[in-house]
Amino acid sequence: RAKAAGRNCWRFFDESMARHVARRLDMDTALRRAVERKELRLLYQPQTSLETGRIIGAETLVRWSRPDVGMVPPNEFIPLAEESGTIIPIGDWILLSACHQAATWRRENQLELRIAVNITAKQIHHKAFVDQVRDALDDSGLPPQLLELEITEGSIVENIEETVNKLRQIKALGVTVAIDDFGTGYSSLSYLKELPIDRLKIDQAFVRDIPLNPHDCAIARTIIAMAKNLGLSVIAEGVETREQVDFLRAEGCNEIQGFLVSPPIAADELAIRCLDAATIA
Ligand code: C2E
Ligand code: MG
Ligand code: MG
Ligand code: MG
Repeated sequence: RAKAAGRNCWRFFDESMARHVARRLDMDTALRRAVERKELRLLYQPQTSLETGRIIGAETLVRWSRPDVGMVPPNEFIPLAEESGTIIPIGDWILLSACHQAATWRRENQLELRIAVNITAKQIHHKAFVDQVRDALDDSGLPPQLLELEITEGSIVENIEETVNKLRQIKALGVTVAIDDFGTGYSSLSYLKELPIDRLKIDQAFVRDIPLNPHDCAIARTIIAMAKNLGLSVIAEGVETREQVDFLRAEGCNEIQGFLVSPPIAADELAIRCLDAATIA
């Protein structure tokens, strides 16, 4: 009896699991084809200097419009692609496209914009990673200093020695590195001095309730001070209000990114926005 019940139990588990797996497989197959079917599109969100008020860079953010389904947010398909390995060809396409875009802004719009590209753990640890970055630079002709890679704390702690090794090779190319979503990971602070990085991105969770929430103000202030002491630049994500700008600037934050300046937009729109005298007074 117990055995029979166990079997029924298993069957139930098995069927719902099978459906779940099938749905994910389905999405992954669709995602693999998304590049050639031109369903993926890149948007760019301005990054603004608090010193000059001008746009000095942009973060690349991928969008997937799936036929018959609609927009699938990156928070849904990037983790899936990361798990399945599909992130390798897709990430390579994103990197190459972003480099070409920044090279085009430079050539056709006389805009020297730094282009930031999000990179997952699996991409960093892939054996061809450094070659892919080098190839994207060669193919696009983008000066390496104009490419920035955004990695999260999570992908660093996964294999710290390997990450340091890879990042050293990336830095040797002249490419810069930012830690994304800083403050939300598990990592100890000690790795910060080991890592060859250039910038910290304060996670939007700590920016949202500035200046009203004293704890968030304290956290943001501490991250900025620590970045300064380590000789790193710091950018705040998710900046939506003038009050946040005033606080961040007073604390010495170098750059901001968020809806206050602009949501992620198409490449040609961004080129037009850059003609504005200054985005932040
Ligand atoms: P992220 O790299 O931390 O990107 C910032 C996210 O915050 C973006 O969401 C952006 O649209 C959103 N955001 C920007 N300003 C504001 C603001 O003022 N307020 C609020 N509430 N949100 C703001 P998005 O585009 O949905 O991307 C979500 C995440 O998906 C990204 O977080 C990143 O982890 C991942 N992702 C997006 N594009 C790519 C990509 O090309 N490659 C990889 N590997 N991951 C990507
Ligand atoms: Mg990012
Ligand atoms: Mg972020
Ligand atoms: Mg994020």
